Amino acid sequence: MIRNRRVKVVATLGPASNDYDTIRKLHEAGADVFRLNMSHGTHEDIKARHAIIRQVEEDLESTIAILADLQGPKLRVGTFANGSEDLEEGAEFRLDLDGDTPGDINRVNLPHPEIFAALEPGARLLVNDGKIRLRVDSCGDDYANCTVIAGGTISDRKGVNVPDVILPLAALTRKDRKDLEFACQLGVDWLALSFVQRPEDVQEARGLVGVRANIMVKVEKPAAVENFDEILAVCDGIMVARGDLGVELPVHAVPPIQKRLVRKCRAAAKPVVIATQMLESMIESPMPTRAEVSDVATAIYEGADAVMLSAESAAGQYPVQAVTTMDNVAREVEADPNYMKIIAASREGREHGVADGIVAAAREIAETTDVKAIVAYTQSGTTALLTARERPTVPIIAMTNMQSTARQLALTWGTTPVMTEQLTRFKMAVVNAVRAAIQTGYATESDQIVVTAGVPFNVAGTTNILRVAPCDERMIYYMDPG
Ligand code: PGA
Ligand code: MN
Repeated sequence: MIRNRRVKVVATLGPASNDYDTIRKLHEAGADVFRLNMSHGTHEDIKARHAIIRQVEEDLESTIAILADLQGPKLRVGTFANGSEDLEEGAEFRLDLDGDTPGDINRVNLPHPEIFAALEPGARLLVNDGKIRLRVDSCGDDYANCTVIAGGTISDRKGVNVPDVILPLAALTRKDRKDLEFACQLGVDWLALSFVQRPEDVQEARGLVGVRANIMVKVEKPAAVENFDEILAVCDGIMVARGDLGVELPVHAVPPIQKRLVRKCRAAAKPVVIATQMLESMIESPMPTRAEVSDVATAIYEGADAVMLSAESAAGQYPVQAVTTMDNVAREVEADPNYMKIIAASREGREHGVADGIVAAAREIAETTDVKAIVAYTQSGTTALLTARERPTVPIIAMTNMQSTARQLALTWGTTPVMTEQLTRFKMAVVNAVRAAIQTGYATESDQIVVTAGVPFNVAGTTNILRVAPCDERMIYYMDPG
């Protein structure tokens, strides 16, 4: 699928988007990456969705990234005798380890002993996305007596956030470990880790994943914001998970954090996804609010690699329209002459390597001549990521012989992955680059492109050559006898 935009769209699959037809329509409408939420659905469900995505990919001769999102140590209350209770402000409410007795208006089970060990009087417990707020008055090894600060309806298995204490929780639960292995064996391209607090959390997952998938860290804990530089250094991509982040921190703290994280990810050449409530009202309405459209536009002007749909595409009534909306906003923003100025003004960070020089030169050539695309040969994906870091004005075509690399790059700003055979000679690389540029529609025979590669071809990490090539194959043979 060739898109006329740089930013990528991630669509979460769920009950509203389970079947071949819907998933195909979502991809055709603009979804470049599909997110499988491991918090919901059995392994059988996940496996079925995965197979459908790969079928769509094959049928449309496209390249699709699959992102499996691990639940992580999400805390949840137990169940209630009546399914739910209305908690009134000022009332007392108790949380305890008694998992055998269903909850009522006075208490409910919180099946996490490590939380009770870490709690202190005065700490806040936020239930159901922060809608209900409890303050701990007294606590022990197996209970916490709380006062309801903000009331509301509490129901079975609602989520609990504890922003005021660092929780001694393993980043990967037993369920996560099983899900991780399952997802890796299925062959997903990206694994997202939830509620990461420390770089060690990422390293632990990396030990289990190996090279089978890229690792994306969801930033949704204050600790992840504090330890961000160390975390970014050890992961492959970032999700600004504004849902839980906006519960754990005041909501107004989220926009500046989003801006900061996007800048840092761009400078580090690691993809960054903006997630949660981007088009929330489209769960029930075919039209987004103006504020939502503006939010999507803001993320695009910031230069984020991707914008994400959650419930809008997973459980909403208008999944395809939500993707179309993102696609429309992206094309409008990117056609704005201000867009590239803003992107260029926010470019920062440059390493001092040969590859860094080559990708910067490729961008400058694109800005000063009328080349139609930058075609980057890449094995691991690094050269494509470095090229994307430059945020050039022309499309990036990432030529790789690794299918996993091609799929992982489906998430990267401005990059169209194209599979190529293992090459031995640079002339053939130029010819293949030209063919890819024409086949994708980014160039015609009378245009020119920039080709970057590492020669010799079978040595990793050696990008060392830049060629401005005519798209007329006869010219290449004439001019490049070697
Ligand atoms: P979730 O993560 O959808 O898995 O909760 C995203 C977020 O918290 O924003
Ligand atoms: Mn979350």
